[in-house]
Amino acid sequence: MTSFDYDLFVIGGGSGGVRAARMSAQMGARVGLAEEHRFGGTCVIRGCVPKKLLVYAASFASAFEDAAGFGWTLGQRSFDWTKLIAAKDAEIARLEGVYARNLDAAGVELHRCRATVAGPHEVRLAGNDRAVTAKHILIATGGAPFVPDVPGAHHAITSNEAFDLPHLPGRVAVIGGGYIASEFAGIFNGLGAQTTQIYRGKLFLRGFDEEVRLHVAEAMRARGVDLRFGDDVAAIDREGDHLSLRLTGGDVLAVDAVMYATGRRPATRGLGLEEAGVRLTEGGAVEVDGFSQSAVPSIYAVGDVTDRLALTPVAIREGAAFAETVFGGRPTQADHSDVATAVFTQPEIGTVGLTEEQARAEGPVEIYRAAFRPMMNTISGRDERMLMKLVVAKDSRRVLGVHVVGPSAGEMIQLAGIAVKMRATKEDFDRTVAVHPTAAEELVTLRDPVA
Ligand code: NDP
Repeated sequence: MTSFDYDLFVIGGGSGGVRAARMSAQMGARVGLAEEHRFGGTCVIRGCVPKKLLVYAASFASAFEDAAGFGWTLGQRSFDWTKLIAAKDAEIARLEGVYARNLDAAGVELHRCRATVAGPHEVRLAGNDRAVTAKHILIATGGAPFVPDVPGAHHAITSNEAFDLPHLPGRVAVIGGGYIASEFAGIFNGLGAQTTQIYRGKLFLRGFDEEVRLHVAEAMRARGVDLRFGDDVAAIDREGDHLSLRLTGGDVLAVDAVMYATGRRPATRGLGLEEAGVRLTEGGAVEVDGFSQSAVPSIYAVGDVTDRLALTPVAIREGAAFAETVFGGRPTQADHSDVATAVFTQPEIGTVGLTEEQARAEGPVEIYRAAFRPMMNTISGRDERMLMKLVVAKDSRRVLGVHVVGPSAGEMIQLAGIAVKMRATKEDFDRTVAVHPTAAEELVTLRDPVA
């Protein structure tokens, strides 16, 4: 019998890799893990976690404004970016320590270096340039920002750098219309920067329910973000102490920073995967089956390095399913259906299941909708409305999709997600007594379809 140095070697210490490594070790496997940057991966180090901290920071701007309607008079306000970034860094360092300690406590051997695949059962560690063998190899290297090849693109930053800027830029342009661009536009705007978001298509947040997209666009504009759709960057030039952004539509903007958020690409380059026989998609993602197994049976991949749903909780589920399958003796596939998600724009979005457009393509539907001023906005004077929408299958009565825009939409959708996952019908929602006074009660009091 061949003996290997490890039962499992994981390349990448982010959400997916860490979950797989810990669970496998707890099931008795001898596990090694290499991470070339910092434990915690994109989510903890330069993604979801620091982003949410910045969103909290930015949300004080509207909270201060709203306070006046409730009788508060606030004194001199000032914001210190350096202080926020230092506090964020301390929290990230704490979390990184927790990740490393948890791996260590589970008995995972940690290698703080780059690792590449040298064969179906062999991994090369750059740290001390030696090779180790493993019965199974798990690729969990995640992704990295993609910046299109535009003249002057080297002047731009990505979300990686945005978290560590030395100063808050006074004027900033965010390029892209996805999660990251829209969230950062809200962050910069809330913190006081003059913010422009530029998206090449007609309406940003492609893939989300159209009414949600329209609602968020209107609210972001009302909050001060200059949203420019149907335009793109032609070139970026440095001019003295600022950047000049030439747009394809002809406008020229003077800004202090340009941030690209035009998607992320799987981090597979130079990993030795193709040489080992692993098949990659056209976009460079590891091709895997439902069990996260690649074309080489001993090599698996989870998380953003595969072309599935690029979300932390999904990577965690894929990592857990891998461990169950390979070391737990229970073949398990991660379930990618009806995954609830939040976009931390300001106002935020919570969504689960099908959009109205997707559902209509599948059969007859009923749409239930309420757009209203949440109670908080009555005496605050803020004119922003909240949107709640249910997409219901006409025949089965199943609630196929729930879409919320407004305060705490992310928190709400986690719970609505359970109902959708349980295949709740509109009548199940109706039988549920409202919690009063809340905004969420609208979800169970929507009486008549609007379409
Ligand atoms: P997305 O794929 O969400 O969006 C990319 C955006 O960039 C789209 O608007 C796209 O336009 C545009 N774009 C792509 N290529 C170009 C180009 N060459 N020129 C101009 N525009 C371009 O990527 P993100 O970077 O925003 O986020 C990556 C992933 O990270 C998300 O898919 C999401 O899964 C995850 N994420 C999740 C978060 C959350 O859960 N809250 C937060 C942040 C990220 P078009 O629509 O026309 O293709």
